[in-house]
Amino acid sequence: MTADGPPTRRRLPICFYGSAAQNVCRLGRRLLAFAVGLLLPRPCLACSAPAERELGLCSQCRRLLEARPRGAARGDRLEGCDGFFWLWGYQPPFDQIILGLKYRRLDYLGLHIADEANTRLGIELRRAEVVVPMPMHWRRRLARGRNHADSIARPLARRLGRPLSPALRRRTLGRPQVGRGRRQRLLNPGIAFTCRRPAAVRDRVVLLVDDVVTTGATSGRAARTLKAAGARKVIVFAAARTLT
Ligand SMILES: [Zn+2]
Repeated sequence: MTADGPPTRRRLPICFYGSAAQNVCRLGRRLLAFAVGLLLPRPCLACSAPAERELGLCSQCRRLLEARPRGAARGDRLEGCDGFFWLWGYQPPFDQIILGLKYRRLDYLGLHIADEANTRLGIELRRAEVVVPMPMHWRRRLARGRNHADSIARPLARRLGRPLSPALRRRTLGRPQVGRGRRQRLLNPGIAFTCRRPAAVRDRVVLLVDDVVTTGATSGRAARTLKAAGARKVIVFAAARTLT
């Protein structure tokens, strides 16, 4: 005699044909979404009005973006670096572009940012001989599926005609900087890098690419690691910087 217990769920065997059918369905849904996206205008990332092609914003939000403070072509100072160039302030509506790139995997935004950087800062950024994306710790990369700095650095390297090298590796997870107070950001412990491809940066001017720069502490440590590996100079490009 057996005691009555809760019904146990029988696990279905994994079937090759079943998983293939699921993949076909997934592909079909993506193709359908792509076809609908071609026919219908994308909604603006900031206000949901029909968006223009560039940066996923409508014309009104785009005008607002251009009216806000912008990075100067001559560049700004950033401790430990030999130049710092940025395009927009990290505030509405640009914050929505970064959120789209980070969490909604809208890789076309990285392409548009690279186009803007090439148009507005191409002469300065071509001083670099190799492009290095700011690395993400492997655990965070696993969780998000990709490093969004790659989504900007890869097309930017193509536009500038420079090689792309993932020369840096982030050794510690750290904490996300955006949204934290200035004191907390400066005290953010455990930002550490290693250079895994010193031959790619030795005696070269490196362009380090990130999405947003806050205090510059992370960029400074990455630059010091690159210089310790033999980089001649490190200049930094970020799509945006915090203005507070
Ligand atoms: Zn809008």
